[in-house]
Amino acid sequence: MKYDVIIVGAGMAGLTAGLKLAKSGKKVAVLEKHFIPGGYATNFSRKGKDGNIYTFDCSLHSLSGMNDNCTVYNMLNNLDILDKITINKKENSTSILRNGKFFPIPSDINEFESTLCKRYPHLADNIKSLFEFMKNFYENMKLLSVNHEEAPKYLLDLESISVEDFVKRYIDDENFMLDFGYLWGYDGLPPSKLNAFYYIVTLSSYLIGGHSYIGGGSGQLSKVMQECIQENDGKVYLLSEVIKVNTENDKVISVTTKKGDVFEADEFIFACDPNHIFSLIDNPIISDYVKNMKTLEKSSSMTQLFLGIDCSSKDLGIKYSNVYYQKVDLETSHKCSLEGNLEDANSNVAFYDQMDPNLNKHGASVHITAIDYSKNWPERGTDEYKRRKEEITEILLNKLLKLFPQIKDHIQVMELGTPRTMARYTNNSDGAIYGWAQNIKQGGLNRSSFKTPFKNAIMIGSWSFPGGGFEGAIFTGMIGANRILSKSKNKLNSSNELITINVLMNGLISKFNPENAEGINITYKFLFNGYDPIYLEIKDKTARLLPESETPEKVDTTLTMSHETWYKIAFNEITGQDALMDGLVKCEGNLRNFASMPKFFDKNLISIDTIMTGLISKFNPENAEGVDIIYKFVFENYDPVYLEVKNQTARLLPKSETPEKVDTTLTMSHETWYKIAFNEITGQDALMNGLVECEGNLRNFASIPKLFNKSLN
Ligand SMILES: Cc1cc2nc3c(=O)[nH]c(=O)nc-3n(C[C@H](O)[C@H](O)[C@H](O)COP(=O)(O)OP(=O)(O)OC[C@H]3O[C@@H](n4cnc5c(N)ncnc54)[C@H](O)[C@@H]3O)c2cc1C
Repeated sequence: MKYDVIIVGAGMAGLTAGLKLAKSGKKVAVLEKHFIPGGYATNFSRKGKDGNIYTFDCSLHSLSGMNDNCTVYNMLNNLDILDKITINKKENSTSILRNGKFFPIPSDINEFESTLCKRYPHLADNIKSLFEFMKNFYENMKLLSVNHEEAPKYLLDLESISVEDFVKRYIDDENFMLDFGYLWGYDGLPPSKLNAFYYIVTLSSYLIGGHSYIGGGSGQLSKVMQECIQENDGKVYLLSEVIKVNTENDKVISVTTKKGDVFEADEFIFACDPNHIFSLIDNPIISDYVKNMKTLEKSSSMTQLFLGIDCSSKDLGIKYSNVYYQKVDLETSHKCSLEGNLEDANSNVAFYDQMDPNLNKHGASVHITAIDYSKNWPERGTDEYKRRKEEITEILLNKLLKLFPQIKDHIQVMELGTPRTMARYTNNSDGAIYGWAQNIKQGGLNRSSFKTPFKNAIMIGSWSFPGGGFEGAIFTGMIGANRILSKSKNKLNSSNELITINVLMNGLISKFNPENAEGINITYKFLFNGYDPIYLEIKDKTARLLPESETPEKVDTTLTMSHETWYKIAFNEITGQDALMDGLVKCEGNLRNFASMPKFFDKNLISIDTIMTGLISKFNPENAEGVDIIYKFVFENYDPVYLEVKNQTARLLPKSETPEKVDTTLTMSHETWYKIAFNEITGQDALMNGLVECEGNLRNFASIPKLFNKSLN
């Protein structure tokens, strides 16, 4: 069986990538070991004593980023599945429970901010500054979800510090930390150890992107994704555990499943735990990769008690869907979890009927969860394991009943899931639920990248950038799919000729935005193989390439990369951040200067001259045999531009030379031409949407992509 792309693992990440690729016309197969898709995003059912069937969501408590035009919303919209799912908004249904008192957490960031300002009036100004930061931060994240643009500019500010240290920049108050850090359990580490970048992503994604729940549970979302993959001619093979990854030198050739089927493909995506998948590969080139993995810390797991009750929680006077029970401070809680002391660790209680009344029409499912670790559990199937299950069931049940005693007489069914259960169903080592731990060292740009030692295989999912959670997993799925799509776009346009470095550099200069370069004085040195160094100076709100005669006295940042990498960065096929993480760019000196480049050069439109020069550099004489066309381009506030294709040559006519005849006149905005040039819209779509007016021979317009199809390999 030969496919364009094989994806191993049908969790949120694998399903997202599978759907994106299938919709883009790729022949794709997703292989999944379980009998249902979703990984952690699945449901299961149990029969209650009352004979009713109770449905439980294995993971989802709250989906972030589902407000209109927010991160996850944009991604699911891009996948065309918004109309196939029900989004239940969770308005003000969350609360912290501390010292016997409820502290409601408003869903909206502004309300949360004013609640905290009221609760800590002496800290109000600092709270406002902190929230201002988060709001700006989230705007940046949204851009990333729409365009997969450059790294959020705040990334470098946050990636190497803990949440605690970050918050202390604004506020140093233990109680405030308990409120602000209430979501720590979703990332698995307490504020002193948790990476600030990741926590601010999580928190702002909930507070601005919104808390929601998918009608029918996370299992329903996975089912819809599976169906959509199939509707787009993709395949999802269930009960198909990959047990061997077959490689040749630096390429993956195929994978073999437990049933003995062999699936071949051009590209592979591993959407599961790298510790597991690399254990299925026998090839010396993985040794450094595996050695490095051994130095990394895995995230925590969870133990959860699932209860089916025969009435709604609202009928029992319960007001909240999610209650974060803070029995102790967050650091002590984590210590308890590490020691397996779930009696004293903090817990999260979720009443699912408040999120989706239809999940269990005759009652409700109630979960009590606590961060836990596989090392606290004996091997599955042993007597010790059974004993510990009974012991922990009783502990969690008693804890729940102490908080909500009214539930007691309504319990119809009970089941405990442990870290070992998580590992069993997903192959995530130690039942890790967020991939690699989001600690200070392993977050942000330092997180494991998509790259593997194989040319045609990438890693996605909670173990790669940016990390776990539904939002993170969906995000990696989109990035992974886009990487493969841009790779094949290049193959389609395959040629040995690159747009020259000079054109790329001039294109960069034309995007320079002086407004963002106030007070900046940086000299960059670019080193490309086989080229003299190129120096770029930003000074006095001007960017210029230094002439060969002028070698600068100081260089602040030196960037070494291939011509191909620079081309890819320039044409948004890879972000600078990804290139850095994948080792494609070497940065010496001040790294922050590299990260700031998207800000300095953020003028949206490359000049018409540069686009035209770029077009000419892509001219393919082989496709222009016998062609004799003069195009006239008309842009607002611009002299007409004449392009002649004749004698297998393309050239822009100098201003002094007005042609006698014009075959095709194209009138459009600068922006439309930019979008066509950068493949954001096809010429045909632009025409159909009335963005281009074409006079004369329309066929000549349609021929442009063929005449100018030289690009990278
Ligand atoms: C109890 C719990 C509560 C959570 N609550 C939330 C929440 O409220 N909000 C939130 O955003 N996130 C939450 N999360 C985290 C979130 O569920 C995960 O981060 C996310 O679903 C991970 O998706 P993934 O695709 O990266 O990996 P996974 O879900 O682990 O998927 C990996 C898939 O690969 C398959 N697989 C592995 N090995 C093989 C193989 N050899 N062959 C074939 N298939 C294979 C597995 O069976 C699995 O289906 C929670 C997680 C848990 C466990």
